[in-house]
Amino acid sequence: MLDWLIIGGGVHGTAISHALTVRAGVPRDRLRVLDPYHKPLARWTALAVNTGMEFLRSPLAHQLHFDPFSLRFFAQIQQGKSLARFIPQYSRPSFDFFQAHCAWLIEHYHLDTLRITGRAERLDRIHNGWRVETADGSLEARRVVLAMGATEQPYWPTWAINLRNAGARIHHIFDMDFVRENLLSWSQATIIGGGITAAQTALAMTDQQPGTVKLLMRHPVRIAHFDSDPCWVTSICLTQFHQDRDFDRRRAIIKQVRNRGSMPPDVAAHLEKAVQSGFLYQQSGEVENGFVDEQGQIQLHLLNGEVLKTDLVILATGFESMRPGGAFIDDAINEYDLPLAACGYPIVDELLCWSPGIYVSGPLAELEIGPVSRNIIGSRLAAERLRSA
Ligand SMILES: Cc1cc2nc3c(=O)[nH]c(=O)nc-3n(C[C@H](O)[C@H](O)[C@H](O)COP(=O)(O)OP(=O)(O)OC[C@H]3O[C@@H](n4cnc5c(N)ncnc54)[C@H](O)[C@@H]3O)c2cc1C
Repeated sequence: MLDWLIIGGGVHGTAISHALTVRAGVPRDRLRVLDPYHKPLARWTALAVNTGMEFLRSPLAHQLHFDPFSLRFFAQIQQGKSLARFIPQYSRPSFDFFQAHCAWLIEHYHLDTLRITGRAERLDRIHNGWRVETADGSLEARRVVLAMGATEQPYWPTWAINLRNAGARIHHIFDMDFVRENLLSWSQATIIGGGITAAQTALAMTDQQPGTVKLLMRHPVRIAHFDSDPCWVTSICLTQFHQDRDFDRRRAIIKQVRNRGSMPPDVAAHLEKAVQSGFLYQQSGEVENGFVDEQGQIQLHLLNGEVLKTDLVILATGFESMRPGGAFIDDAINEYDLPLAACGYPIVDELLCWSPGIYVSGPLAELEIGPVSRNIIGSRLAAERLRSA
């Protein structure tokens, strides 16, 4: 029986496997990471590449190593030197540099050898721990960390689902099998969304085919440096958050302080420049419904009565807000009476323990870690708690 089984080997699972084996001294043969992808960070990498993001939104201290200075140190050593690129004000690393650091971390600490390829399909309590079923057999562990993230559930509005069912050429930038660079050419593409992903995708597609992309936003550009104020990483904001034991209020705070649908100033400036030079079109409006006409064109009917014609729609509408994990978590909740807040998310203790031997990270830990739980820094905050478990 393992001491630790981490379900999900993306940003969170990989960072936690590093912190537990290297910092907390969990023997390597006592810990495994279960993930459907052979390579670590596969989902993170695919999504980031799809958006064409050049720089991360978060600062350089937010990376997978538990040492906040690791990326800075990496910039000074040979392997990182040639790649080190940052945006000055908050030292936000370039995506390529961030990835190079991840690759170094994984290789240096042999984190890939901790992985088992597979998907958790069932969770059963056994004496002294849990059994996790996969298509290839079962794994047993004293402690299981649920680190599946929310990145497998892109949000599709109803009108978009209807369009897809009607055979329209419509994709979500975060669809499981979608690769933006494989798109065949289009006449007029429409990107739907108002935040950083929509802007980055529109810019990347404009680079692919200048003058053929329209960004449809339902609100004006909202500028914010980060997903939420940096105070949410520290006790400045978290002390009060933790004092409040009402989980509905905690959810309300998380909703209120996350800068949803926003983008940092550099992305907004890039967008404005592309629009002003006529390479990219930007329009405000919200889709009410969509149809495929007799010529096979997509017609998007907006709330203001306008109709947009397009031959390709790309959704950049983020992720579903429902609890991630799907049926496998739903079944465990029902069977073991795992406590939930009204929003459907786990109520866990300070060590992120949901039930003896079951721990959470990422979105599932949000009501305890707070607004940054889904972000990269959330993995470090979670690993800190798990170390004490
Ligand atoms: C385009 C983009 C840019 C972002 N930029 C930033 C940024 O700059 N800064 C920042 O702090 N945050 C950023 N984020 C937010 C966040 O850091 C990332 O989404 C990050 O990938 C979340 O890590 P994760 O481990 O929760 O999810 P992932 O990295 O997606 O990993 C989850 C893994 O769990 C696996 N899994 C799911 N279900 C199961 C199962 N049943 N069994 C086994 N494995 C399973 C998935 O396949 C996946 O491999 C960004 C997000 C996106 C989408």
